[in-house]
Amino acid sequence: MRLIVGLTGGIGSGKSAASAWFEQQGICVVDADVVAREVVQLGSPVLQQLVASFGDWVLLENGELNRRALREHVFADDQARHTLNQITHPAIRAAIVEQLEQASSPYVMLVSPLLFESQQNELTSRSLLIDASIELQIQRASMRDGQSLEQIQNIIAAQMSREQKQQRADDIVLNDGELEHLYAQLRSLHLKYLALSEQ
Ligand code: ADP
Repeated sequence: MRLIVGLTGGIGSGKSAASAWFEQQGICVVDADVVAREVVQLGSPVLQQLVASFGDWVLLENGELNRRALREHVFADDQARHTLNQITHPAIRAAIVEQLEQASSPYVMLVSPLLFESQQNELTSRSLLIDASIELQIQRASMRDGQSLEQIQNIIAAQMSREQKQQRADDIVLNDGELEHLYAQLRSLHLKYLALSEQ
């Protein structure tokens, strides 16, 4: 069976930097966030289901999903969030499986901020955590997106704790130094994954 590595980490931990490095080595990367946007694109059956369940207000004037309106609607309503997840999660999972099957590289990677939270690790052979202190996460995420401290802290609070992720991950890279330090650690994991993929 093909080796599938699940890559995860909190906001600002360096997931995107790490996955870009693996892509440069020729490794196919499936990004769960990208897939989640693809399954609700204009004309998709999932978007039609969302309209049928919630109403026309989930659409923008151009017919695309009004993410913000939907996000605000489900924010304080557990039942609505449950409905949303029931519609989107199976479609996201199916599309991830399909993209992983189509990917052609010695091993493949699934990048997901919610790898453990959404049980997407079930689709992978092993997991790699990009780990960083909360202080570094906040510093990097605020520099990248210009989000407020409060917004970033809310996202961190909603994600699984750093300790829980450390316990569940097969491999951990501490991204607490220069990017070169991150890449050096990824290089040795890449060699390990190549060796595992040949078994
Ligand atoms: P994530 O995808 O986990 O949210 P990113 O990979 O986008 O995190 O990293 C957040 C920001 O921090 C990006 O602008 C990235 O270039 C930067 N960054 C990541 N790791 C380092 C590092 N070791 N040194 C300096 N900047 C970093």
